[in-house]
Amino acid sequence: PGRRVVTAAMSAEAAPGVEPAEAEPGAAAGPGQQQAVLLAEMVEDAAVWCALHGLVVGDRADPRSGTVPGVGLVHAPFSLLPSRFPTSFWKQACELAPIFNELVDRVSLDGEFLQAALSRTKQVDEFTARLLEIHEKMMAINKKEAIRLGLHRSDYMLDSETNSLLQIELNTISSSFPGLGSLVSELHRTLLNQYGKVLGLDSKRIPRNWAATQFAEALGKAWAEYNNDSAVVLMVVQPEERNMYDQYWLANHLKESYGVTTIRKTLAQVEAEGQVLTDGTLVIDGRTVAVVYFRAGYAPTDYPSEAEWKARLLMEQSSAVKCPSISYHLVGTKKIQQELAKPNVLERFLDSKEDIAKLRKSFAGLWSLDNEEIVKSAIEKPDLFVLKPQREGGGNNIYGHDVRDTLIKLQKEQGESLAAYILMQRIFPKASLTPLVRGGDCFEDLTISELGIYGAYLRNKDKVILNNQCGYLMRTKVSSSNEGGVAAGFAVLDSVLLT
Ligand code: ADP
Ligand code: MG
Ligand code: MG
Repeated sequence: PGRRVVTAAMSAEAAPGVEPAEAEPGAAAGPGQQQAVLLAEMVEDAAVWCALHGLVVGDRADPRSGTVPGVGLVHAPFSLLPSRFPTSFWKQACELAPIFNELVDRVSLDGEFLQAALSRTKQVDEFTARLLEIHEKMMAINKKEAIRLGLHRSDYMLDSETNSLLQIELNTISSSFPGLGSLVSELHRTLLNQYGKVLGLDSKRIPRNWAATQFAEALGKAWAEYNNDSAVVLMVVQPEERNMYDQYWLANHLKESYGVTTIRKTLAQVEAEGQVLTDGTLVIDGRTVAVVYFRAGYAPTDYPSEAEWKARLLMEQSSAVKCPSISYHLVGTKKIQQELAKPNVLERFLDSKEDIAKLRKSFAGLWSLDNEEIVKSAIEKPDLFVLKPQREGGGNNIYGHDVRDTLIKLQKEQGESLAAYILMQRIFPKASLTPLVRGGDCFEDLTISELGIYGAYLRNKDKVILNNQCGYLMRTKVSSSNEGGVAAGFAVLDSVLLT
């Protein structure tokens, strides 16, 4: 943890980027002290704003905060000020969103490609194998998804070595924080409207962020395409979810703007209460489901028994719109990211040479572990690589010395163990000093940021109804931490200050 600089109770020590005040005891407050007081005021204003506007998560300290709404709330961790980001890279990232949306859709149509690309992973990764099994079953019955809904988030870091915007990953399932992310931009705008003059920061430099309403719009339009006024949206959730307010924001917009009801069920509840009628209609607890929106189901821990797998298969077999379908889910795996980065693969799926060039420019080095040369390099210089298994949700990747140790261990094992992982070029963003607020306390630390750009895609047969960039999520983490998840406790929510 970084240096504790100030709490909401105004026990100021120093302001960000300012040397501690050298004032003599009893002397008048110096500029350092003044700034510390200002900072304390801002922290308090910000924390109050969060409470009044629903920028909240469940508090770990309260055991009921993940299951009972309205109990044990705490403000989401946030950075006190938006992070600087060059306008040119911002535009580049936004422009990529509709292209990635289209790419996901195209790749998802090529079942043979997905099966072949993941065939070796399947032998050593039980979780991926189970997903592929469902996918295979859908291929066998020639299942067609007429209405296709994607709610993605493509994440990027600015690499200081090459001065380029490079993609970390593309999330096609359970892309989180559209709700709270939009609010952080509003929080920062409000703070800069009040304090921007003193700080020399202009609130107009924070891009508007409509991620929550735009995701709700996509869900609402998918619901409308399904064309059954009494049908609901099913949000598939984990039994315990401290990030539930991010999800409730979407449900709230869906209700207010489209009159659509959202029901929340765990995979186990779907198994117990769900059925698919002979015409393909998905019925849960007596209600017809138009859209299944997954905020669970991306990790092995979401499937503690066969019941959860049965539920996933049941929903996939139905005619409900799935966000994501099993094929969209698979397109978002790290193995597919690596396969798409190989020469001449994008060309199989996209027609526009210009679009292909734009995507490729954002690809970092990605390698499969059957490349002996690269494994050798990674053992020699592990700090230049990240070793990634086929997992989501943060906290799964391998860095530094562990890359070497793991690779040596995997090499010694017989069989296909290496196929469970991919290697990625490590990206090195420039670090800067940032005040971070967690649990009402402000800490200053050296941080790096990751920009996520949301994308929504909706198609019914040949008619593309939506293909948009919709808002963003900046996440900022202490630079000494390898991982970046907010829910996983590594990062804080942030927004963008264009430079
Ligand atoms: P997950 O699906 O679990 O979020 P990611 O690929 O996004 O997996 O990796 C998790 C975190 O690890 C990222 O948010 C980022 O902070 C860090 N990370 C991932 N890939 C790289 C990379 N190539 N270079 C530097 N950091 C990385
Ligand atoms: Mg991910
Ligand atoms: Mg990630």
